[in-house]
Amino acid sequence: MIKGQCLCGAVQYQYQGEIENSILCYCTDCQQAQGAIGGWNSPLDQTQFEFISGQEQLKEYFHTPNKARVFCQNCASPIYSYRKDLPNIIRLRLGTVTAGNIPAPTEEFFTEHKPNFIELS
Ligand SMILES: [Zn+2]
Ligand SMILES: [Zn+2]
Repeated sequence: MIKGQCLCGAVQYQYQGEIENSILCYCTDCQQAQGAIGGWNSPLDQTQFEFISGQEQLKEYFHTPNKARVFCQNCASPIYSYRKDLPNIIRLRLGTVTAGNIPAPTEEFFTEHKPNFIELS
């Protein structure tokens, strides 16, 4: 069981499954969307994901027509993204997880934009 929330706490969620892998993405879209060195995400089965509260605070931003980035409109925490052509899969923003196990990243994408001070051990 995974639980998590946005920064202000309005949005609370839980996931019945476990997180099986995590991914670091250094593309410039992820860097700008997160305001950080990159995105730390995991693809999850949407049918096992549910909101406990705050669903009315969620807003979707389409930077590209196929992909929605879903965030809390009160505190701006990114929660997850989804692609219109991949039904039932969401990519959870793992910085919002508050309970449950997150495995170390197994893949890195767009490493040409990776800051050279980041090393995975
Ligand atoms: Zn919030
Ligand atoms: Zn990215």
